[in-house]
Amino acid sequence: MDYSPLDPATYQHVLKKTRRRRKYFFGTVLIYIPALVITYRISPTNRAMGTVFGIWVIMLIIVTALAALSRCPRCGNYFHMHGITLLILRRCLHCQLHITNDTPT
Ligand SMILES: [Zn+2]
Repeated sequence: MDYSPLDPATYQHVLKKTRRRRKYFFGTVLIYIPALVITYRISPTNRAMGTVFGIWVIMLIIVTALAALSRCPRCGNYFHMHGITLLILRRCLHCQLHITNDTPT
């Protein structure tokens, strides 16, 4: 892949965006049980539970796609994807760049 290195400001911006997308993903995963418990207390019907579940699935699809399509600022490949494998780890699956490493090397 033809990829030119980014300037430090863009580099940090891209990594920051990737970290934010990871937070959205983990936040969506963690909110599942509390959302269903709260919905059950407010309205314990199948319709309400199904609606909340459907909204959660749509949110999960969106945040997973955003996280999956995050680019690594160092190598230009997808940060969390290798082929069709999606692994939301703390290092780039291609160049091992750590998610908190803000300095271009
Ligand atoms: Zn990389």
